[in-house]
Amino acid sequence: MTAANGAGRPCRFCGSVRGPRVPGKAGPICLECVRAGLKVIRDGADRETPSGDVLAAVTSPLAAVCEFCGRRERRTFLGLRRPLLRVDCAARDAVICADCLDHAGDVLNLALRH
Ligand SMILES: [Zn+2]
Ligand SMILES: [Zn+2]
Repeated sequence: MTAANGAGRPCRFCGSVRGPRVPGKAGPICLECVRAGLKVIRDGADRETPSGDVLAAVTSPLAAVCEFCGRRERRTFLGLRRPLLRVDCAARDAVICADCLDHAGDVLNLALRH
């Protein structure tokens, strides 16, 4: 996955078409939503996106899969399953997991350095 400027597709979590974004299967996530999502992952409290949509932590293993990687759980090398924390924007039916938020943050950090 490479950093992209979005190619005109709106951020899945706020609808913004501006700024650096990281592409996903259903659409990209923007820098502001990556930042807000990482805060939700850190303390579990809801955050608002720039558009005022609410990002909330998803803890149920049965809730929607991450739309960026298609997972809802982590598998350890012993074959054990651990819950994968996700953040959703119910108003836009968008979901991203902690791992993909971390990855998106890394990609955007690199892109912004250039
Ligand atoms: Zn956004
Ligand atoms: Zn994911």
